[in-house]
Amino acid sequence: MMLFSKKKWTVILPIATSILLYPSMVLADDTITQVEVPKVEEVVSNEPSTSQTILETSLVSPSDLNSSQENKSSDELSSSEKVSKEEAVSVEDTTSSVSDTEEVNASKEEQELINNNSNGKNEEEIANRDNEATNASGFRAKPGTANAEVVTDVSEGTTGLRLQYQREIPQQTSILFAVWTDKNGQDDLKWYRAETGGVAYVSYENHKSYGLYHVHTYANQSGRMIGLNATTITIKEPTPKVQITKADDNHYRINVSDVPQTIKSIVVPIWSDKNGQDDLKWYQAKQLSPTQYETLINVKDHKNDFGFYHVHLYGYSEITKSLIGLMATPGFKHENKQEETYAKVSLQGYNKNNSTFSVVVDASQSTKTPRYVRVAVWSEAKGQDDLKWYTPAISNNKATTQVDIANHSNTSDFYIVHVYTDYSDGKTIGTDLGKHYINRPQPANKISSKLTSQGIEIKLTSDSIKDLRQIRFAVWSDDKGQDDLKWYAANSNGVATANYTNHKGYGTYHIHTYVTQSGQLKGLKADKLTISKPNIKVAINKLSATNYEVVVSDVPLYLSGIVTPVWSDNKGQDDLKWEKAAKISSTSYKSIIDVRNHHFDSGHYSVHIYGYNQLEGNRLVGLSASPGFNVKKVEQGKITAVVTNHKPNEGTLDVLISETPTSPKIKSVRVAAWSESKQENLSWYVSDSVRNGSIVVHVNQANHQHKKGNYTVHAYVTNTDGQEIGFNLGNHMLNSNIKGSASQGNYDVINRVVYLDAGHGGRDPGAAYFGHSEKELTTIMQNLVRQRLEKEGYKVVTTRESEDVYVDLLDRSKKSNASNSDLFLSMHFNASVNSSISGIETYMYKYYQEYPSRINKTYHNNPERLARSQVLANAIQSETVKRTGAPDRGVRRETFAVLRETTAPAVLVELGYLSNRSENNKVIQPSYQAKLADGIVAGIKKYYRTYQ
Ligand SMILES: [Zn+2]
Repeated sequence: MMLFSKKKWTVILPIATSILLYPSMVLADDTITQVEVPKVEEVVSNEPSTSQTILETSLVSPSDLNSSQENKSSDELSSSEKVSKEEAVSVEDTTSSVSDTEEVNASKEEQELINNNSNGKNEEEIANRDNEATNASGFRAKPGTANAEVVTDVSEGTTGLRLQYQREIPQQTSILFAVWTDKNGQDDLKWYRAETGGVAYVSYENHKSYGLYHVHTYANQSGRMIGLNATTITIKEPTPKVQITKADDNHYRINVSDVPQTIKSIVVPIWSDKNGQDDLKWYQAKQLSPTQYETLINVKDHKNDFGFYHVHLYGYSEITKSLIGLMATPGFKHENKQEETYAKVSLQGYNKNNSTFSVVVDASQSTKTPRYVRVAVWSEAKGQDDLKWYTPAISNNKATTQVDIANHSNTSDFYIVHVYTDYSDGKTIGTDLGKHYINRPQPANKISSKLTSQGIEIKLTSDSIKDLRQIRFAVWSDDKGQDDLKWYAANSNGVATANYTNHKGYGTYHIHTYVTQSGQLKGLKADKLTISKPNIKVAINKLSATNYEVVVSDVPLYLSGIVTPVWSDNKGQDDLKWEKAAKISSTSYKSIIDVRNHHFDSGHYSVHIYGYNQLEGNRLVGLSASPGFNVKKVEQGKITAVVTNHKPNEGTLDVLISETPTSPKIKSVRVAAWSESKQENLSWYVSDSVRNGSIVVHVNQANHQHKKGNYTVHAYVTNTDGQEIGFNLGNHMLNSNIKGSASQGNYDVINRVVYLDAGHGGRDPGAAYFGHSEKELTTIMQNLVRQRLEKEGYKVVTTRESEDVYVDLLDRSKKSNASNSDLFLSMHFNASVNSSISGIETYMYKYYQEYPSRINKTYHNNPERLARSQVLANAIQSETVKRTGAPDRGVRRETFAVLRETTAPAVLVELGYLSNRSENNKVIQPSYQAKLADGIVAGIKKYYRTYQ
């Protein structure tokens, strides 16, 4: 899909990248090595003298050695093989030079001779017989005493022994030599016949052994063997000397001297201690002189390993005709000079299951001083795309870097670590700490999505993205392609809601997640979910004879509301009613069907289910037609009407109109009441305020010209079907003495009823300064004034009792107008941006055309009301100022709502400025409040005195 095609992620690599592309090269150039040259004396003193020493080391067994040779393809080894062949040829040459001797050995004649005389006997027998023979022959020499008088001279040659019979050989006599070695008894016994002159040559090839050689000399006189002499010679095993010197940083020279001429070539196996013999290499030494050989080794051929190198010597022996181990040399140590001169660089805290490790550069007093450390780390896959440099601070010659794979590819991979240390001498040392596998537990990003009532709520949790507001979600439905594709930005919790109203269609919804990094979008995770078409369930239950409930469940969350149109089959849809269902859970709704709203029809009712579908622009769409329900004929009840709260002396009564569960429903009511025979004082009361199936109408004698008498009360109730039912509620005495009140425009009537309006209350605190509010203080003042007035015999009516009650301004006037009060006093405290202002001011009404009266059109600007208001305002203003000494800010006029809408004479007093610190401090004092209350009460009494 086009949308999810991955964008190329480009990263600008550090400048030094080009160097790091071939890190090993860099390191090789910077590698510094120094090798301690072994002293010659040590080599000599440690020199093993026998070939056994080599074999005992068992590093290379003879068979291994052969196979190694066979398997090796290096020049050294192939040349070694070549040399061996050449030598084999030269051996043959040598052999041919002594072919006479061989022929002697091979001649039948001699063989018979030897057989006749030795006849397979052992050496002792021969020696005994020799003695006998000596004695018998009269030769002067005695066996075993060759030194006293040499009979046969034996000398060592490169290919064999030279035997020289020293005496004159008599006529008819031939001289024979029996030769064998100590090794394995006489299995190599061989006879040699002296040539004219007494010489015989013994080829080593016939004996193939170092050590003791026995040479017995015989004279054959006409077939009679006479033992003449027995002597021995020891052929020593080779003991060459070795000197190893360091040629340069990478090369070591192996010098071998004192090589006996029986050794025809020297080969040198060399390997480092590191990783066994993985770097084993055979060197063919170059011959410098008959006894000296040399070879040069390069540590690069040994993986540049540091540490101890094993150096063994092998030689091709003319005696054994084989390659023999000569010695295990002391070897040499190829030291990492860096370790000694420079800081120790190491990886610490590495564990393949930890995503962090440390790189430590640790210098000491004896090393050079590190000045700057750079650590390059990257993961192996995809090259160096995740390369990051660390530049740890150096403290006390030590630098530690914490490496976190989250800074790199953050994947399971090998992490490669190179360290570059700049030293104070200007030298930079690169150290390859190798690659280290780290196993990273997978999901770094997790997406979840669910349906809510608003839309698809998508949440991305990530342990790698720090600011989740960088997350974007692309959401679309499969239906009609990406026509409804919309992007959403996640909040700081990684959450976004794809509102249903932004999308269309059912089925699969795709959610793709991106992160914006460096202005580019990088795809993270994809999720999808299915939004199914609505498949609601409907259940209809009978609650009572007239009430049925329709329960709609399995409502999809994308439906924002359910409506159930209901009608009875009787007379078509004349009674169709759209009932809005109430939500009872996230997926269920309920509506109540009242048969009374359907003309009490019996029979079948049809119920359809509609829903507001956010996936279709929040349109109301049909969901289901239910089977409906059947209603049996209902025995219809009747609406009732009664008189309650009849208070004759107060001149009031209530008419209560009520439905019953089976009665028709009330729509409205009209009540007529009168006392005079010709209905002169008849008044109508009208109400449609149905509360819980009832309407209450308040009948007041005051609405009937204050006439005392026996009142006839009729009620006319209209039900929801439009039918009107009349009730005759009988006669009721109303006896109140009240003949009207100023609160209803009867300004000449005095009832000694005072209406007190404490300003503000509830959610409206009024002015509030220095911890004190108007609503609190006006409540206090109201109580103080009321106590005083009631003591004087006045009746007090109030707007509110508690400061916690909020009362609308218009309702204050309405309550006053229904109270039979003589006057209206509203109490307030003042405030100003000018905190120096203090004092008391009193207001009365002033008409403004732009503020017409709403409920007091008849009386708001009545001259009598205004004159009386003026008297009251003056009295209260002067009395309060007199008692408190507060600044007198005079009587003023305004079109305040309470002054405009109240029918009785009305004033509003501002008892002080809360914004003035000093006055604020006064008005909160009970003593000052008492003075204010005294002043108000004195003013009210002054008013009554004026008009009584
Ligand atoms: Zn106020």
